Amino acid sequence: MPIPTEVVGSLPRPMKLQEAYEQYDQGNITFEELQAEQDKAAEDSIKRLEATGETYVTDGEQRESSFATYPITDTLAGTGLADNLAGDGQFFAIFDDGHHRQLPRLTGGPFRYKTFASEFVEKNKAIASHPVKQAVISASMMMLLYPLEEEIEGYPREQFLDDVVDQVERDIRQAFGAGAERVSIDFTEGRLANKNDSRNPWTGKDMLQEFIDLNNRVLDRFSAEERRNIGIHTCPGGDMDSVHSKEVPYEKLLTKMFQLNAGYFLIQCASEDDKETVYRLVGENSREDANGVPQVCFIGVVNPLTPEVETAEEVKDRLLTAAKYIPVERLGATDDCGFSPFSRDEKPAHGSPDFARDVAMQKISARLEGARMASEELGV
Ligand SMILES: [Zn+2]
Repeated sequence: MPIPTEVVGSLPRPMKLQEAYEQYDQGNITFEELQAEQDKAAEDSIKRLEATGETYVTDGEQRESSFATYPITDTLAGTGLADNLAGDGQFFAIFDDGHHRQLPRLTGGPFRYKTFASEFVEKNKAIASHPVKQAVISASMMMLLYPLEEEIEGYPREQFLDDVVDQVERDIRQAFGAGAERVSIDFTEGRLANKNDSRNPWTGKDMLQEFIDLNNRVLDRFSAEERRNIGIHTCPGGDMDSVHSKEVPYEKLLTKMFQLNAGYFLIQCASEDDKETVYRLVGENSREDANGVPQVCFIGVVNPLTPEVETAEEVKDRLLTAAKYIPVERLGATDDCGFSPFSRDEKPAHGSPDFARDVAMQKISARLEGARMASEELGV
């Protein structure tokens, strides 16, 4: 089988859509009017992804406030926040360029999603002619909604975590039920967990193992056959063309991450200085048999944070080197991250989000061509 390819999930929102989100926050347009803009951008994303030849397509998360907050708020400014949440939660991440992203804070129980990703899958299935994939958020990210130290009166942490696991399981099941063929779980907090950033207390609490165990509580509710099509995405962040945890030694994560009983992994690597060490760590730590399913390792071969488009030749060479360390039947090709995980993203290194959409398509095309060339050279 040729080397498989897969997108992570997001694409830059056109400036017109970003402005519509803002107009909606200000009360100048209705939710229906915002949705009409989202639908337009989603359809354009799907059509353009199909034109590249990508196997699985997504709407580029055009209808989502962000990869992490879609279940609980309609916009990043907090319009349409779910019950029992307030806007002033923990920093999810502080990025290298100084900007930060904040999560809502849980104020009481029970914790329930107000939007499930299946809503997007249904709409996308009606448009797409290629199979559809959907990215969902991890239980470990939702865990950060609960105050780090205190206990919420009447809603103990353990009860909250039970609810989180139920909601994430339901999110994944419903996405498959709506017709998604692949569901990947965003796990950007994995690498961040070892950052020890005093400005962001949760990153100093050594929570990686706790994250993995919690996410496995979700994964272990699925059969091996189902887990073949459930993936995990890791990256050092990717917002406003900046990162949040690239300086954290990658081996701290890669030596543990494959404990997750997922069937595939979408692994940032193109932006790493020492790519060969990453291939080696992935080869050494990924499992042939994760409770009945082999772990397919999709290596990031293009970088969504830079406007320079990788050549197919570069992609091919990266995959050929990776194949020295990772069995070729468990090797795939992906992008380092979504191209715009948050709905407001000016893509400063690109000059504009509209230009960044064009660049994203060129990068995806180069990835597909490079994977085809590598497959040919490897005889698979
Ligand atoms: Zn990412």
